[in-house]
Amino acid sequence: MNLLIRNVRLIDGTGVEPIPSVNVAVENGVISWIGEGNVTPSAHPHYEDINGEDLTLMPGTFDCHEHFAGDGGQNGVPAMNDDLPEVLLVKAAANARRALMTGQTSARDVGSPYGISITLAQQVATGSIPGPRITAAGQWIQAPTTWPYAMVHTIESPEQMRQVVMDQIARGAGLIKVGATGTREDGSDYATLGPEIAGLVVQLAHGVGLKVAAHCTGSAGATEAVEAGIDSIEHATHIDNATAKLMAQKGTVAVPTLSTWDYRLRAAARWDLPKEEIDSAEARRDSSKASFKRMLDAGVKIAAGTDAGGSPVRHGTIVHEMEVMIEAGLTPMQAIESATRIAAEITGTLDQVGTVEVGKLADLILVDGDPLSDIGAIRNVWAVFQGGRRIR
Ligand SMILES: [Zn+2]
Repeated sequence: MNLLIRNVRLIDGTGVEPIPSVNVAVENGVISWIGEGNVTPSAHPHYEDINGEDLTLMPGTFDCHEHFAGDGGQNGVPAMNDDLPEVLLVKAAANARRALMTGQTSARDVGSPYGISITLAQQVATGSIPGPRITAAGQWIQAPTTWPYAMVHTIESPEQMRQVVMDQIARGAGLIKVGATGTREDGSDYATLGPEIAGLVVQLAHGVGLKVAAHCTGSAGATEAVEAGIDSIEHATHIDNATAKLMAQKGTVAVPTLSTWDYRLRAAARWDLPKEEIDSAEARRDSSKASFKRMLDAGVKIAAGTDAGGSPVRHGTIVHEMEVMIEAGLTPMQAIESATRIAAEITGTLDQVGTVEVGKLADLILVDGDPLSDIGAIRNVWAVFQGGRRIR
């Protein structure tokens, strides 16, 4: 697991300008040295030695919003709600491998039926299956609303919330995921938690060092979540200016999952979607892009996430999310930060990964091309390392 990458263009994830030619050494899986200048090929016979000329070295990417138990695609979400637990676990393992092979070395799983994502995360961590480092929520926790999916654990009181959060923690959850908004029959949104329950979740999770993610598709629920100290707002559609300002002030991270409507609209023709469904996806696109702009203007931190598996979006497609976020107003460098450093921050792993810095685990990708002039270059993966070990 010792490695030397020479003469490579470095985008380190911190947001600083790229270094045109640099050398990076990795020892025992950890980045041990970064330096400029001409370095001759390694004299160590047991070092993997790569001439990185004309390649770009970056931190491995993150997807901050996945549901590994679901395959995505047109019928992926209903299948995830119907499949047996053992089928879900096998599918999740396959999806984790798919994601890793694209250079995505870390992930947050924000909800799985039966909480199988915790088992998945543990099995990846032990090395029995390949996958991104997964911070897993286990079950999604939600007050009753119009969509009682199997993946959702429904609670109706603070006591039930306390019980299920403690249960997820005991099982080994890496974060807690709650739904802070519900949807009425007419499609409008409302806040579901209430300040008492939202505060309780934050207190229980933060007490053991875990972050809390809240599904929010409306400002009322988002405001309640942000005020309670919840760490990230997932989807973040219909966010008004006041909520965006509050998020910026409190350092709440948004995970906009723009891929969800984008996938639907791109698939509309091949799925032969009826006009009402296209109209509804277009309305979500417009609202979500407008929210995104309000959050950017307010200075809210943005982390990249696709909602793969929880929507038709497929796993291992974070580059497309970055492309859509750039169309919606991010610079390519900001898009990279959102899928590396900021993603690691909200995943709770920034002390170990998320940037290319001495002392961090060598979760690295080498890509052909310059992602700052064409973000799609990140698809041209030339090598993937996880903890210094070559994956691809
Ligand atoms: Zn989701």
